[in-house]
Amino acid sequence: MSPDLVSGFGLYNFSISEVHTPSSVEEAQACVARLRKEGTPVTLRGAGRSYGPVATCPRGAVVDLTKLRELTFLEGKPGRVRAQAGVMIADLWRQGVPKGFWPHVVPGTMFVSMGGAVAANIHGKNHYKRGSFAEHVESLLVLDEAGEAVRIARTDPRFHDHVAGYGAGGPILEIELDLKPVETGYFDVEGFTLGDLKTTLDCIEEGKEKWEYQVAWIDCYPRGGNLGRSAVHVANHTPAGDIPKGKGLDLATQEVPSTVAGVIPKSFLASGLTMATFDLGMKAVNYAKYLVAKVAGRVVYRQPLVHFNFLLDAIPDWRRAYRPMGFIQYQLFVPRENALAVFTEAIRLQHRFGMPSYLGVLKRHRKDRFRNAYTPEGYSLALDFPVTRSKAAALIQLCRRYDALVSEAGGSVYRAKDCVGSFERSKA
Ligand SMILES: Cc1cc2nc3c(=O)[nH]c(=O)nc-3n(C[C@H](O)[C@H](O)[C@H](O)COP(=O)(O)OP(=O)(O)OC[C@H]3O[C@@H](n4cnc5c(N)ncnc54)[C@H](O)[C@@H]3O)c2cc1C
Repeated sequence: MSPDLVSGFGLYNFSISEVHTPSSVEEAQACVARLRKEGTPVTLRGAGRSYGPVATCPRGAVVDLTKLRELTFLEGKPGRVRAQAGVMIADLWRQGVPKGFWPHVVPGTMFVSMGGAVAANIHGKNHYKRGSFAEHVESLLVLDEAGEAVRIARTDPRFHDHVAGYGAGGPILEIELDLKPVETGYFDVEGFTLGDLKTTLDCIEEGKEKWEYQVAWIDCYPRGGNLGRSAVHVANHTPAGDIPKGKGLDLATQEVPSTVAGVIPKSFLASGLTMATFDLGMKAVNYAKYLVAKVAGRVVYRQPLVHFNFLLDAIPDWRRAYRPMGFIQYQLFVPRENALAVFTEAIRLQHRFGMPSYLGVLKRHRKDRFRNAYTPEGYSLALDFPVTRSKAAALIQLCRRYDALVSEAGGSVYRAKDCVGSFERSKA
């Protein structure tokens, strides 16, 4: 078998590895058994949507489980599914929405596998309300050390080895998961801008009870009084009554259209983004995004579930804008009481280093109950940075400053997004 290039989503981390893609549970069992017998180090891989190196393997083989794609809705248990490791969030909603079900937790892209979702224990824009992905998992079917497939209930202490275990507990073959019932296929959304970071944090704190989902897009370019200004989106599921029960629970409503305004192909958006992906271009993009939202004022609208959650998926292969060297993301998680000071300093440091983040996303979190939990009761700020030849070394230094900020604030680093070894350093 000839080795392949296997990269993290940010393209900055990669390995040259043999890739095995078993297409059944039995094949996966046999493949892992053979590699273990040979003493070959194994990294499991889902859809490869982690930004950094966690699904790459510099000294061994990669076992890609995305061909395990069976999804079954269990009889007599509304909303309960058995999904093999390679089932995507996209499969869950495509089969679930017409039956009136939506995942409790979704990330910012629908192209994440069940194995990857549990192994990183992903969070959504409603983390402060519904917790992380594994909160809604009833049991896991995993391969144990002897190569046997064993089912582990959520009450079993071994469950914690797999949740945010990044494959360390062994391959997850199948998960049993609860979806949530939804009466309609829509969210009632409010969008508005806020002038600085403090106002943004205060607003999200206040909105915790009222809103099921909250997210703030932070413009990292302004300094001084406008530092941390934001475009905020908050949303609740649209209940039946406001509109007829079942409205919007069809795939035609949910699928993201392939054109903008009915005429411009989405692929043009990716090309436009490529042309804007340099410091001044992204300054203009962030400014325009803020300004358009500010001019629009407080807007209230109804949006299909998929459109609200998977905004970035609407732009095909947007990461190509960061070629050739790719990009990294750093997501700082900090306790609530330290969020303002830490995020203010994080943005100031970007200015001092001359590298403002191209995309900043702020979310509210609660403390998880799992052993490998990474979310404190507080906030996270996810920051995207391009990697360029001239600034790569300074970018790593900036990340080292972030490591110190997070550690001093009693926070944590999200391993699925870590591209520069911050997670290992935090455990050292
Ligand atoms: C555009 C975008 C937006 C995102 N938004 C969010 C977000 O809002 N919230 C969030 O939490 N994350 C987010 N992510 C990150 C993503 O959800 C996680 O990295 C997730 O783990 C990716 O799943 P995957 O299937 O691609 O797994 P991979 O990236 O392939 O693997 C992730 C880890 O899981 C392990 N693994 C994979 N499959 C198995 C298996 N079957 N058994 C055991 N271990 C396995 C791998 O070894 C690796 O350690 C986002 C990513 C992108 C690209």
